[in-house]
Amino acid sequence: MTDGLAGLLRERYGDAFRLQRLDGELDENFLAEPARPGAPKTIFKLMRPGCAPEFVALQIEALNHLRRSPVGQLVPQVLPTLEGGGFFETKVNGTPRIGWMISRLPGVLLSARGRMHARLAQGIGESFGRLDRALEGFDHPLLSRPLKWDLRAAGWIQAHVGLFEDPQRRSIVGRIAEAFGSTLAPRLDALPQAVLHNDGNDANLFLDEDDRLCGIIDFGDMVRSARIAEVAIASAYVLMYAEDPLHCAAAALRGYHLAHPLTEAEIEAFWPSLLTRLAVSVTNAELSRREHPENPYLQVSMRPAWSLLFRFHDVDADALSARLQEACQARTMPASPVASRLTRRSRHFASNQRLSYHEPLLAVRGERHFLFDRFGRRYLDAYNNVPHVGHAHPHVAEAVSRQLGQLNTNSRYLTDEMLDYAEALSARLPDPLSQVFLVNSASEANEVALRLARAATGAKDMVVLEHGYHGCTTGALDISPYKYAHPTLHGAPDWVHEVPQPDLYRGRFWRSHPGDTAPYLSALDQILESIAALGRGVAGFICECLPSVGGQIVLPPGYLRSAYARVRGAGGVCIADDVQTGLGRLGGSFWGFEPQEVVPDIVVLGKPLGNGYPLAAAVTTPAIAEAFAEGPEFFSTFGGSSASCAAGRAVLEVLKREDLPARAKSVGQQLSDGFRALAGAHPSIGEVRGMGLFWGLEMVSSRAERTPDAARAASLKRALYERHILIGTDGPDDNVLKIRPPMTFDHEAAAHLLSVLSDVLDTSAP
Ligand code: PMP
Repeated sequence: MTDGLAGLLRERYGDAFRLQRLDGELDENFLAEPARPGAPKTIFKLMRPGCAPEFVALQIEALNHLRRSPVGQLVPQVLPTLEGGGFFETKVNGTPRIGWMISRLPGVLLSARGRMHARLAQGIGESFGRLDRALEGFDHPLLSRPLKWDLRAAGWIQAHVGLFEDPQRRSIVGRIAEAFGSTLAPRLDALPQAVLHNDGNDANLFLDEDDRLCGIIDFGDMVRSARIAEVAIASAYVLMYAEDPLHCAAAALRGYHLAHPLTEAEIEAFWPSLLTRLAVSVTNAELSRREHPENPYLQVSMRPAWSLLFRFHDVDADALSARLQEACQARTMPASPVASRLTRRSRHFASNQRLSYHEPLLAVRGERHFLFDRFGRRYLDAYNNVPHVGHAHPHVAEAVSRQLGQLNTNSRYLTDEMLDYAEALSARLPDPLSQVFLVNSASEANEVALRLARAATGAKDMVVLEHGYHGCTTGALDISPYKYAHPTLHGAPDWVHEVPQPDLYRGRFWRSHPGDTAPYLSALDQILESIAALGRGVAGFICECLPSVGGQIVLPPGYLRSAYARVRGAGGVCIADDVQTGLGRLGGSFWGFEPQEVVPDIVVLGKPLGNGYPLAAAVTTPAIAEAFAEGPEFFSTFGGSSASCAAGRAVLEVLKREDLPARAKSVGQQLSDGFRALAGAHPSIGEVRGMGLFWGLEMVSSRAERTPDAARAASLKRALYERHILIGTDGPDDNVLKIRPPMTFDHEAAAHLLSVLSDVLDTSAP
């Protein structure tokens, strides 16, 4: 076909061209290379069948008008035919078609460059401002034609909201459509109107080598509409490439305002207009997807628009509008609030004090199982187990602040707070766990546990579980394979012995002994024997009740009972690190060691005890405490402070009053059913394990090989974050989705998590 067209072009333009087909939605575009040496390449456009000549004439007149204006260099030049017209009419395979030719602009498309920053965003805004000013004297009857991309006409999406199957997608587009109809549409009609390019999308903007806008193409959606739509539409695409989208939105708007000043009312309409454009795009794509289900690209192409909608649909519009007004009025572009905080952070905090997420959460408030950021967005917290009875629980806050205002002293004085708390805590623990050491962190509690074990046994050697984690202090690190295995550390000290983690799904013996706990116990026997062979005793065995960084592992039934018997037989004590799973998290049992039907000699508690107020404990038997008491005085300055005890007691009270362990049980059942149903539909979920409000979903690339898929886990975590749900990833291969929300997590929260997780599993890249 290109041969025929080349002949046609020779006739019409007097030159021989070699044609190469380019992308095009409905019209056909070709790169035309003239045979004449040194002549620049051009673009030949063969319009879709049925295209009206007036429509091409509109674009040609607009381009000719702009070429004579101060933005002339930004737009292509229309090449005249030999007869002097801008286009020609012909027939291709018997069908009437219109052809025309334009100069080729330099640079690369924004879609190909794929990055965005505030300077570029401002430049794009500014160029559109200059373009619109240059279009002020231009007119054409077709500029008032009906057009689905005219933002004032966006109300058409309302009729299609029901197309979206996912409830969250439906609700987002529904709310934007509703707000458009009730408030934005009348506002847009009343705002200044102008002739607009109306399609500043990423495939229409050219950038030069210095990342500056150097060209704007495709004038086919030109329309007379509300002027603010121009920069709102271009910004919708700018944001898709921005690391800090709101900052880039402000920059683009500021750029436009500098070139072509906007009214306050227009600035106010900017953000809702941008959201409306995104809603129009995704609705249009959904309609096309249903028309062409065979084309998977249609689904993928909308991911960036959806991503923006999920992340920003509920940004507090008033706060944002104030920021946008400020960005437009300020003499220089105000710094990005996120970037400036990151700079401040980097001045004082080493880089191994990591932040979660590529785009960090700037949280300002918490309530129950929700966090709120500075833009007013609400996040469902399915990850944090420290705010055990819910973020900022009023009863805990009140108890702590009352105590702080009255007395906050230490364990050397006789205080009722310490007595009350020790009694309340030990009342919940099985006999003979009655001796309480109150400290400030679980790391410190594990340090105490180590000392207790040594005092009780006179031995030093410890047996630990592969991948275990017990804290960040030097002694706790020594018994934490998860940390000491790091290449910069020195590995296990000679008094620490690792046993394989009894992970029946992917542990060391899953292939050779599927479903069998025995080899893990034999490995423990061998370790105990090897310690004896060295002529040394065993101080103890420490194991998390449900190993968390090990991958949210549920220990096989009977494992701890058998392991404890062996360790005790070798003279050691048994330490249960119940930092992650205590206080009712598992639903059916109040303590993490209960499902294993054991009572440890020492239990270590931390994270949830004070609902975020520093409070941790090592609780042991009278016999072990007595042996320890023969040593030097035990004193930890803040340990057992009146305020921390008030926090601890308030947490126990709320757990009881709000019946949260029972809630954890029933919500846990809902999660269990839901996760298992998802695993049934998605082979990438290799195993679902957990209980109550403590879950791990093991992501694999091959079910048969159980190959860990950390990339998939990370992308799911990120996709959930975009949709304002917090979870984590963990495990030796970081491929396990980690879900352990505050205990207030209710059926509604669980249903939402399951519904979004289902959608994300369907739509995020495998
Ligand atoms: N033990 C376990 C099982 C833990 O998960 C943690 C913390 N993640 C700790 C101990 C140490 O707790 P902290 O950071 O409060 O000292």
